Amino acid sequence: MTSLDIRKKFIDYYTALGHAEVENASLIPANDTTTLFMGSGMQPLVPYLMGQKHPLGTRLVNVQRCLRAEDLDEIGDGRHHSFFEMLGCWSLGDYFKVEQIPWTFSFFVDELGIDPAKLYVTVFAGEDGLPRDMESAEIWRQVFAKRGIQALATEDVYKVGEGNYRIFYYPKKKNWWERNNGKAPVGDPAGPDTEIFYFTGEEHDPRFGEKCHVNCDCQRFVEIGNDVFMQYKKTGDSSYVELEQKNVDCGWGFERIVRVVQNKKDNFATDLFLPIINQIQAYSTIRYGEMSKTDWVYRLCADHLRAAVFLTGDGVLPSNKLQGYVLRRILRRVIFQSKKLHVTDNFLASVAGVVVDAYSPSYPHLLTAKPRVLTALVDEETKFTNTLDKGLKEMAKLAQKTNGKFGQPELLVLYETYGVPMELAKEICTEKGWNVV
Ligand SMILES: [Zn+2]
Repeated sequence: MTSLDIRKKFIDYYTALGHAEVENASLIPANDTTTLFMGSGMQPLVPYLMGQKHPLGTRLVNVQRCLRAEDLDEIGDGRHHSFFEMLGCWSLGDYFKVEQIPWTFSFFVDELGIDPAKLYVTVFAGEDGLPRDMESAEIWRQVFAKRGIQALATEDVYKVGEGNYRIFYYPKKKNWWERNNGKAPVGDPAGPDTEIFYFTGEEHDPRFGEKCHVNCDCQRFVEIGNDVFMQYKKTGDSSYVELEQKNVDCGWGFERIVRVVQNKKDNFATDLFLPIINQIQAYSTIRYGEMSKTDWVYRLCADHLRAAVFLTGDGVLPSNKLQGYVLRRILRRVIFQSKKLHVTDNFLASVAGVVVDAYSPSYPHLLTAKPRVLTALVDEETKFTNTLDKGLKEMAKLAQKTNGKFGQPELLVLYETYGVPMELAKEICTEKGWNVV
């Protein structure tokens, strides 16, 4: 099944269940200066989750393009992305747990053909006077039972793999949703969530803890779904009352779902990234997958160039501030890191062309924007390539002078004179063993 098929199946499935499709909006939030980028599909829907009437009704569905630029350093490991797509569906005071959980399950199992025996779920254990979400656990038990799978629930999360345990209770830290990481203002909606995981069959990685569990960071279990049940209103620091309008907010990571359905070892092996990686390979003498030392660079370039195409497609140009600065940082990071792949020619435009071709069936605006996107990328590539070598030489000289210590004044000179963004300069310092003070 291609990623295009999966995207379409999701929309068709929820449309058939009476959901209206919400526009896949620009990465740059309209009328919202509190955040640089669209970070989730629910972001533009907050007023409606708070009770305002949505013009399209009480059942909504969409695929939303999103961007998170906070942890760019983690990109390259196979599962983190700057740009990503989110599958979302919402009930605005309409249906609740008893409908949503079986729908979620049936979408994964019947529509996408995922083996139900490989699915595990988590629910809220109860904490701070908030009750355990027994209702969701019971619905999950019944859903599995209908497929002949006995699913037992436990709060001992390390029992995964033992007996018939398949439903695991986790505390607030893992299975509770409210905005701003639990620091939402009084009056905001909040509630328990339930997450669906796919068992990859791989071994636990002890770097992430002595024992494995479903929500372990080792990724032996991949999270494919997260359904939030907004059933409370925040009335104080940790006090809540039942909401009159109860909502469902489901947000599922598209790349991970594609990875599971296409049975790949990581997101970058799916059809969402392979054409991009192949095009980068055309400019390198080092193959992807052959030298694990440089594979992360391939992944970083593929991730960042996909993000850059979507950003310029939404009207952002490289600059010194706000979204433009993030785009500049992303592009300059690609240009610097691509040296490790022995890329010598300008390659951004040709790779960006592949991104446009792969994504324009779902994002037709990219076709119209293509000439503008390619020009912006080539301009930035030419500008930075011309100064990067000088910047690196200057860094080496500075390091000698300061005994390997880089403070704010040095970082500022590097940016203003040589165009090396501060975050990139810090990254180079780490690689060379110099200190940022
Ligand atoms: Zn693990």
